[in-house]
Amino acid sequence: MKLTLTSLAALFAIWSTLTGCSLFKKDESDDDTTLMLLLLAASSSTSTNPCSGSGASTGSTISNTTATIGGDGCISGVTTSMDSALPTWIKNNFKCSVGYVVGDYYCFKSKNLPNHTSFYWTGAATGATLSAALTNYDSTTYTAAGTNRIGSQNFVYAIPKTPTKNSGTLTGTQGGLSSIGITLNGLAIFNNAAAPGDVLATEATTFDSFGAHPNNQSITHHHAWIKKYSTDQSATVTTNFNMDSNLIGVALDGYAIYGAQCDNGTAGTGDDFTPTLDSLHGHTAVTQHFSTATYHYHYVLDSTATIKTLMGSYFYGKIGAVSN
Ligand SMILES: [Zn+2]
Ligand SMILES: [Zn+2]
Repeated sequence: MKLTLTSLAALFAIWSTLTGCSLFKKDESDDDTTLMLLLLAASSSTSTNPCSGSGASTGSTISNTTATIGGDGCISGVTTSMDSALPTWIKNNFKCSVGYVVGDYYCFKSKNLPNHTSFYWTGAATGATLSAALTNYDSTTYTAAGTNRIGSQNFVYAIPKTPTKNSGTLTGTQGGLSSIGITLNGLAIFNNAAAPGDVLATEATTFDSFGAHPNNQSITHHHAWIKKYSTDQSATVTTNFNMDSNLIGVALDGYAIYGAQCDNGTAGTGDDFTPTLDSLHGHTAVTQHFSTATYHYHYVLDSTATIKTLMGSYFYGKIGAVSN
């Protein structure tokens, strides 16, 4: 069939109607359906989350109009506490959350408040500068922000202490979970999908200058790149934190997530390499945190998202639990 411009336009109109997709969408609506399922799942699974009801509070609720970044690099009032029973790779790297151990699980409780400036802290108009309290971290203006706002959450993660490969039907990352992992700075990790009919590459226009955005439940999350956090708190970071071998966070199945490069664990610099990965974004190798070959994920181009993402469509291992 010969396609004319007119027939292409007609096809697009039909496709748009079927998918509800708009190429001009600015407000993030990704995960809305997922989120509803999730909230249902979360409320019903709270009693089965082995980490619920245990451990210290993550602090009081924070107002997004008065949020300030404290001396520990987290939003003032957000507690960082990592129990001594946690392994070094967690104790030395995770912050802005409360970590502890219950039975077979590493637990994290998080208010899920980003320790970076973002348009989404405020109710200001698109392109406005951020609240003065946070401008020492970034004075960038944002041009693609929607109406969603950052808000305090009460995430409880149960991460398996001993991750195990799931030899059965793999668990998907795209439904039924309120978050699929936690970043070093206590933020939710979301999947590689956008609203039906859309791709994450389109929604990426709503990421703030640190690669995060909140959904319509005020849950701030990362799908993809992260500009800075953790030890990298300087005011003028221009590099993409994900492009080297930095530890990014941990997935709900207990496997670590790294940037695009793999570090073989030696102290030398310049020896990082681009790993060959499976379809789940992972491979088994030693890293700077694991001296025996251990499965882990990398930030890599994802075919569903059409951009690099932190996670693919499925978990490699058996997942723990998450509630909010
Ligand atoms: Zn999102
Ligand atoms: Zn690796």
